[in-house]
Amino acid sequence: MTLRVDEIVLRELRIGLVRPFRTSRVVTTERRICLLEFRSGGATLGWSECVAGEVPDYTAETIDTAWHALTRWLVPGVLGKPFATLRDVEDSMAFVRGHQMAKAAIEMGFQALSARRRGLSLSEHLGGKRDRVATGASLGIDDDLGRLVQRATDAVSEGYARLKVKIQPGRDYEPVMRTRDAVGPDVPLAADANGAYGIGDFEDIVRLDDADLLLLEQPFPPDQLTAHASLQAAMRAPIGLDESIESPADVSTMVALGAGRVVNIKPGRVGGLGPAKRIHDLCEEHGIPVFCGGMLETGVGRAYNRALAALPNFTIPGDLYPASTYLEMDIVRGGAVLDAGTVGVPAAPGLGVEVDVDRVESLTVRSESLAASSVGGRPD
Ligand code: MG
Repeated sequence: MTLRVDEIVLRELRIGLVRPFRTSRVVTTERRICLLEFRSGGATLGWSECVAGEVPDYTAETIDTAWHALTRWLVPGVLGKPFATLRDVEDSMAFVRGHQMAKAAIEMGFQALSARRRGLSLSEHLGGKRDRVATGASLGIDDDLGRLVQRATDAVSEGYARLKVKIQPGRDYEPVMRTRDAVGPDVPLAADANGAYGIGDFEDIVRLDDADLLLLEQPFPPDQLTAHASLQAAMRAPIGLDESIESPADVSTMVALGAGRVVNIKPGRVGGLGPAKRIHDLCEEHGIPVFCGGMLETGVGRAYNRALAALPNFTIPGDLYPASTYLEMDIVRGGAVLDAGTVGVPAAPGLGVEVDVDRVESLTVRSESLAASSVGGRPD
């Protein structure tokens, strides 16, 4: 069964956040969402989301670099081509280095399309066995510690299965300890630095062991694997790598160096669901648990994440909280609903959520359609 797409429509949507989200690197107040609509024969086949942000703070990609890579090289390279396998879709984009989130938007759209053709939910198609997955809440940096603690205790009473506090140098020990004291010893608590620390901060970071952390996520910049290894040797808390892991090879390096004991998998960061599953499987072979991170996606991106997180080695609660908790409005029907610290895995064939096309149109600020005939493709 070949997979073929004749037209891809890119749209940029703007959606405000319910409250600003602050990490060690940027404050986000509005999301610029890049949505891809896959079409053939004039009909919509499916949707995907490119999760690149507004600013190159997480990886080097932004929505604007992704838009460029997609329209200039990646979309023209897949339109009108009959792909025998999903690996062929990946391979067709391999001549482009980097641009993982742009590639992932295409690869994931094809994955959902393949699942639908097989009559399977995306999760079943990937090999997932669960119908619900555990989610935590992620709390941005807040200089008002009373408000931070209130939000933490609110999240616990809403039933979230884990808390994650964003930290940066000088805004770490006190907010983490205040949170730990407020929620008690039994709530799994993580801290995420988004690579904000330097090796000179070593002693300050090690003190965070006082909070009995579930994990400490990405203390050092992405390329500093040996620094992570030194820290892991000195710390009780498992180090979880996020930005450092872009491929299975990065997992092998992490394991060889002892640079971490947990991996945060985001399909956008690693180039799609195929690479995400290979990272998942490699981690499982090495006894390394994984969790699914988030990129403040709409319900489209979140549906992909929920499907991925149903794989068996996702044993740590992810950042799968409903898009409606941080976006002023969502663009899907059938988005995640929190229940006892879990969200459902979409069960319908394909992506399993319905895109609200009228809402998408009303939020669109620019669009560009690329069709096989206009980029030199040819019919079978
Ligand atoms: Mg992270």
